[in-house]
Amino acid sequence: MYFNWEFSPSYHSRSLDVLETALNQVTAYRSWQTYDPGRAYPINMRYNAMPAFTKLDIRNNFPDGLVPVGRDVRHALESREIGLASTSGSSDTSVTNVWNQEWWDASEQASWKLNSHATKLATGNHSEAILANPLNVGFISDDIDLSMEKRRLARFLYLNEKTDPAKWSSEHMDRMISELGIFKPVVLEVNPSLLAKLCRYIANHKIKVFQPGMIVYTYEYPTQLHYRQIRQVFNVPMASSYGSTETGYVFMQCEKGKFHQNSKFCRVDFQPLKPEHGGPFVGRILVTTFNNPWYYILRFDVRDLVRVDEEGSCPCGRNSGIILSAIEGRAISLTLTCKCKLVTLRELDEALSVLDGIDEYQLEQASKKVYDLHLVSRRLDKNSLTKEASKVLKKLYGEEAKVSVIYEDALSPEDSGKYSIAKALFPIDVENYLDETYVAKGNQL
Ligand SMILES: [Zn+2]
Repeated sequence: MYFNWEFSPSYHSRSLDVLETALNQVTAYRSWQTYDPGRAYPINMRYNAMPAFTKLDIRNNFPDGLVPVGRDVRHALESREIGLASTSGSSDTSVTNVWNQEWWDASEQASWKLNSHATKLATGNHSEAILANPLNVGFISDDIDLSMEKRRLARFLYLNEKTDPAKWSSEHMDRMISELGIFKPVVLEVNPSLLAKLCRYIANHKIKVFQPGMIVYTYEYPTQLHYRQIRQVFNVPMASSYGSTETGYVFMQCEKGKFHQNSKFCRVDFQPLKPEHGGPFVGRILVTTFNNPWYYILRFDVRDLVRVDEEGSCPCGRNSGIILSAIEGRAISLTLTCKCKLVTLRELDEALSVLDGIDEYQLEQASKKVYDLHLVSRRLDKNSLTKEASKVLKKLYGEEAKVSVIYEDALSPEDSGKYSIAKALFPIDVENYLDETYVAKGNQL
């Protein structure tokens, strides 16, 4: 099997530059020299011989071990050339990163070129409203309501300052709706679960709402349920933007719905799963950033799974870099069938999307064969909903699955500010499910 991805010559020279600099001048990667087959070998083969880099590695080398020797991180911090950005969450997920605003903006602008609506609307000084958890971006104020001016920053308006969306009052949602009408953003950037919640309120109360030029999804995996609830209210172009604080913008969904690699700003190494677990089209990605002199991130395990596009082409005509047909969801959202086959969040979401009248869901796999589905639903016939949901889950996980359906008034996000839509309460290590034959050969499939 061979993926027909095309890469520009500069993609290979950037890959080479980053690798050489990292191996020779960046402390965190010095030990990787032992894996390097050498300069005589093709660049892809050299990358594929290297291990994956993790959040723990970032923490252990932060900050001096992540920049070339001779670059003075403290001086750059004092002169504000760079800053620091911490992600919230448990000790497993939180990490402090070097933040290079200039690089971040350039990475974002390059990603806009991968969607024709974003290319047209996002000029770099366009107005943008952001509906996110303030734990991820914006200003936190759970007790006191912040005025609109206090939630402005440059061209941005942060619509929400509350950390738990389950506690949003109708006044709070009315305020967000009214501010959309006052601010009239060109782009509305959202965490999909938060916009879905606001849209359920808007639809229930038949409120008229301002329509932005486009909606960009980020921070979280947008489920079919989110899309359904949001499309009831907004009739504008939508695109999902995929990236992370560590890696910048990695994939952008084009106007035809596929995902294109932001290949001027990052290298992506794809590692397929074993065929019995969804490979070779589903796998994990390791991201290497380009052009950031203050932060060398190589083969970073973003802990997400993707589905590469089987055709390897897109009707939009863009053909530089990897093309995905879907993001499959977080590795932490993986669950196992009764026969121990991996189930990605996208597969679960696809299965549950047939259920009607669901506001929110969350699946927890407590142990092998034991699945607890938490549902928020206004349906009155809960008994038949329970039967329908159990049937769907047994079809996906196996007839011997022990399924419990638990009804909730509302679901709250995790400490990280993001919702857990699915998770196993026992560890599932993706490395054990990778196809070694492909991993050894990497991109040369
Ligand atoms: Zn496309």
